[in-house]
Amino acid sequence: MSTLPVNGSVRPITRWGEDVMHRVNQPVTDFGADLQTLVADMVATMRAADGVGLAANQVGVDLQLFVFDCPDKDGNHVQGVVCNPVVEVPEGKDRKLDEGEEGCLSLPGAFTKCARPDFARVTGVDQHGVPVSFEGDGLLARCLQHETDHTQGTVFGDRLSRKYRKRLFGEAEELAPDYPSDWPVSPMIEHDEHHQESQAT
Ligand SMILES: [Zn+2]
Repeated sequence: MSTLPVNGSVRPITRWGEDVMHRVNQPVTDFGADLQTLVADMVATMRAADGVGLAANQVGVDLQLFVFDCPDKDGNHVQGVVCNPVVEVPEGKDRKLDEGEEGCLSLPGAFTKCARPDFARVTGVDQHGVPVSFEGDGLLARCLQHETDHTQGTVFGDRLSRKYRKRLFGEAEELAPDYPSDWPVSPMIEHDEHHQESQAT
């Protein structure tokens, strides 16, 4: 299990609709100091937003890269950094769908059911260029698929039916005033009646 870097700076989270969120991002080829700073900042940003995963384009950077710290079905936390991720999910008779709730830090506060394979494996390299592989079930399987999607310019709204997408956008619009434009640099505006029971990526 890897240990995520600490002491990064929190950056504002980029929202759906920004171009960098909706196109295939560039592969990581330079593993120098700038990348190390970016990874530490992404970890700090994910933690500040209370998320379980964050992709580089969610802080406005056009690179195929994500960080995560996410529990599997048994509550075991797995964490890591994956550059240039490739995801594999079960096919054929091994493929079972999990209809769990999904949310995204780039559409903060809104959640809806999104069917995805209940197991995933992601391979790539870490921030030093060393090959890594992560796999798991539960929220971890969802997170690994969701984050790899981000690196390819896909958001989970793209995977929803029109009805569910409409409902999701309605909920997000309602909650938008709670999230300052530079959130989570500025904290969300808390209301007593509003508590978040699911975790977003
Ligand atoms: Zn997301």
